[in-house]
Amino acid sequence: MRNARRLRLRFDASTGSFKLTCPARMSRKAALAWALDQREWVQRQLDSIVPPEPIAPGVLIPVQGRDTTIVWDESFRRTPQLALGELRCGGPETGLQRRVESFLKTMALQTMSAEVAEFAKAAEVSASAVSIGDPATRWGSCSSQGRIRLSWRLILAPPEVRRYVVAHEVAHLKHLNHGPQFKALEARLVGPGVAEAKAVLRRVGPRLRRVGRGR
Ligand SMILES: [Zn+2]
Repeated sequence: MRNARRLRLRFDASTGSFKLTCPARMSRKAALAWALDQREWVQRQLDSIVPPEPIAPGVLIPVQGRDTTIVWDESFRRTPQLALGELRCGGPETGLQRRVESFLKTMALQTMSAEVAEFAKAAEVSASAVSIGDPATRWGSCSSQGRIRLSWRLILAPPEVRRYVVAHEVAHLKHLNHGPQFKALEARLVGPGVAEAKAVLRRVGPRLRRVGRGR
């Protein structure tokens, strides 16, 4: 592991844990004393924690920002089906969470690949690859080689929030920074509502990260 250059306290909302890193030359006692001083910040993080939400029969999960009930019946089709606020799943109850997640991941990749293409066309750029993952802190990233990676959990978020993140990463295909030109392109792609989408993502983000956990 690289030697930390400065004291740092990080919080992982998906696991509810804190991580303190400190330079090797600093005493453990001094580092802990510093961490204790962050009590207020620590408490704020703990307050923001939402309980884990395992995917199980009868529970509500957000899908495209809409509360959706997981309805399980062994006789239903094994591949989940989404309709009228329900996600119907058949097959054995064991593996239900995995099947629902893989259904949502497929939906996320299809939806966001189409959106990347749509925004890329508008920005007159092209992405070399689009993939999904489950990063702990970021919603999306764009490499200097033009590879866009997005959190599958964005399919749980309201569509305007997901589209904002996709447009943001597409804008990075042209500008790998957050400068004025980047901001102008982002605003052109998203249209009005960038600030609103950011605020909603901040508010619902912690919950989205808890869906499918705790089992
Ligand atoms: Zn960015």
